[in-house]
Amino acid sequence: MIQDILRHTSLNRQDLIDLLSVTQPEDLQTLYDAAYAVKAKTVGRVVYYRGLIEFSNRCIKNCRYCGIRRDNDEVERFDTAREDILAMAKWSYENRYGSLTLQSGERQDEAFIAYIEGLVRDIKELSHGELGITLCVGEQSEDTYRRWFDAGAHRYLLRIETSNPDLYRTLHPQDGHHEWHVRKTCLESLRRIGYQVGTGDMIGLPGQTIEDLADDILFYRDMDIDMIGMGPYVVHHQTPVGQYVMEQGLDSDEEKRRRFQLGLKMIAVTRLFLPDVNIASTTALQALHPLGRELGLKAGANILMPIVTLPKFRSQYLLYDNKPCVDERPDQCKNCLSARVVSVGDTIGLGKWGDSPHFFAKKE
Ligand code: SAH
Ligand code: SF4
Repeated sequence: MIQDILRHTSLNRQDLIDLLSVTQPEDLQTLYDAAYAVKAKTVGRVVYYRGLIEFSNRCIKNCRYCGIRRDNDEVERFDTAREDILAMAKWSYENRYGSLTLQSGERQDEAFIAYIEGLVRDIKELSHGELGITLCVGEQSEDTYRRWFDAGAHRYLLRIETSNPDLYRTLHPQDGHHEWHVRKTCLESLRRIGYQVGTGDMIGLPGQTIEDLADDILFYRDMDIDMIGMGPYVVHHQTPVGQYVMEQGLDSDEEKRRRFQLGLKMIAVTRLFLPDVNIASTTALQALHPLGRELGLKAGANILMPIVTLPKFRSQYLLYDNKPCVDERPDQCKNCLSARVVSVGDTIGLGKWGDSPHFFAKKE
């Protein structure tokens, strides 16, 4: 049956659902191989790096699944000194990472906005304009997004988390500050300003159906998204969602395997449906399987985000349990990821931005 669906010239919603429902090992392999073939033909067998600097875990939000949510008192909060961020950016530049992603908890105060604005300018300057900069610092006003764009950031990653507003509501407090439609409006602002826009979802959330996941992929298409960063939901034991999942017995090894497999299937089906977008093989995959990120590349992903975060802060930036790479240094992460790419048979696009071909296809 899977062969029949793969022969369709364009996939419809039911096809997406059917592909995401596949569980037999040979069908799964057929699906991943088909997606890898599309990757080879469209974006190529080249993996681009986005050095990930998780520079602060202060957050005004309280997402019910996230380990650094505001109400988690057990987290020691940190900010990385400006000189350290610039030193890490320089290291990434010298190691030819091509691009950086600056990520943190969300803040919307002017001090934070100005800080990011200055950082982006400084990183552009120290790399002679060569390092591409992706920001991933949450929901902001259009004016703020524009300031950062004018400073030199050219990509922005803001996951919709789920395209189902009802499910979104169960995962966030109802305090007027965690609104699904605001997140969607932010994505529209980013597009208007001219960013390459990235979004994504968490996969295997409690209450999420296969139909929801198919709709997430349709959401990516409808929003004309250029880059996708999605990954399996992973429990954090000090969060309301994590505690619920554990109480309900939804975190067994079998359930983790199911979520991991769903994560790979989402990459593969997204690659088949949206052939020319950039898709990241995210760290969360590796939290559930030691070869998670390689398998993500084999299922059609073409972006990796090596962690560049200062080693002393890594254990304080835990969005979920069992996060890998917490004890490694940036140079170790670099070597480890390079070996992973080689093991798949892909090459690394060193020193290149590796922009989404989809973004440019639209402009022509
Ligand atoms: N504060 C910013 C960026 C940091 S959070 C923001 O929220 O956009 C980055 C991503 O981590 C979130 O979008 C979410 O999808 C993911 N995340 C948070 N908790 C997670 C968990 N328990 N399992 C998997 N992913 C998680
Ligand atoms: Fe803050 Fe992002 Fe975590 Fe939500 S997901 S609590 S915004 S860091």
